[in-house]
Amino acid sequence: MPVALFDTDTPLAPLKPRLLEAMADVVADGRYILGPNVAAFEEEFAAYCGADHAVGVANGTDALTIALRALGVGPGDEVIVPSFTFYASAEAIPPTGATPVFCDVDPDTYCVTADTVKAAMTPRTKAVVVVHLFGNVAPVAEIEALGVRVVEDAAQAAGTTAPAGRPGALGSVATFSFFPSKNLGCFGDGGMVTTSDPEIAERARMLRFHGSHDKVTYEHVGYNSRLDELQAAVLRVLLPELDRWADGRRAAARHYEEAGLGELVALPTPTAGAAPAWHLYVIRHERAAELAAALKAAGIGQKAYYRVPIHRQPAMVAHGEGVSLPATDEVARTHLAIPMSPVLDAGQAAEVTAAVRAFAG
Ligand SMILES: *Cc1c(COP(=O)(O)O)cnc(C)c1O
Repeated sequence: MPVALFDTDTPLAPLKPRLLEAMADVVADGRYILGPNVAAFEEEFAAYCGADHAVGVANGTDALTIALRALGVGPGDEVIVPSFTFYASAEAIPPTGATPVFCDVDPDTYCVTADTVKAAMTPRTKAVVVVHLFGNVAPVAEIEALGVRVVEDAAQAAGTTAPAGRPGALGSVATFSFFPSKNLGCFGDGGMVTTSDPEIAERARMLRFHGSHDKVTYEHVGYNSRLDELQAAVLRVLLPELDRWADGRRAAARHYEEAGLGELVALPTPTAGAAPAWHLYVIRHERAAELAAALKAAGIGQKAYYRVPIHRQPAMVAHGEGVSLPATDEVARTHLAIPMSPVLDAGQAAEVTAAVRAFAG
């Protein structure tokens, strides 16, 4: 039996009638921008994360740009960001006027560490975009102890828990994406900024609304970037399911471990005390491209998400030149995402593991 790389349909299927009803209610109400569902979902999502404030925005990329600007990042500043992550983590920085400075990751956790951040710090460093990659948790407190502000890019980490709390409440400010394939996804684009700093929240609220409170006085050059009412209505139905789905992702990881996958390839390592709701389950193997071809032939979904790291992307040459990130280059070459979803069962994990064993055993 083929095993898909991810499965968003099965978890959503039983919720379809309630989702349609929630959307019909919005249409009946007729308020589509910054209506009651956005306000309610902001409160519900902030409470879920353990943050005081949440500000709904149009997508996870805007969320990062707005969070950085709300933190005071601007022209002349440097913002440290890993190169092994989705492109948007770095793409969001130049629109603030600041310069991205790339740092390395821990190849076992795929996350930045206090050491990799420290190596990239200069007197111009204003903030660090700390990515909770694949659902793992980067060590935010250790990085803040270096004396630098942290923006958590939690786009892949909804549902994850850590000893210090949930992603979204670990740094100065955090961002989420509700792109349909994320751990908590809506039916289009959506994003969120969370923070417990009332001034950052206030600035983010203005920046998403043309830099204004009231569309009369404009205090900043901002954005038109709001989470829309239909998406908020969908997300309010889905948020109560998130912990159960996260448990399903954790169970899927356990199924892989119990099937013996760790004897064949390097498994992702949770950071200290973290219980990752794995967004992607990313293993490493020396011959990752050949393994991908073998899995494909066996009907197993697989994908190398970040084969060319950001500091080697054409748009970032100016910021990537002369940068040496050995662990990033290694994981870029050896990583491979294999099937992961809230409903991946032991049988499927055994099938994937058998296909890996046929190649690598
Ligand atoms: C998806 C993602 C983003 C961007 O989110 P969009 O909603 O697609 O703009 C940013 N950072 C990471 C790590 C992501 O995975």
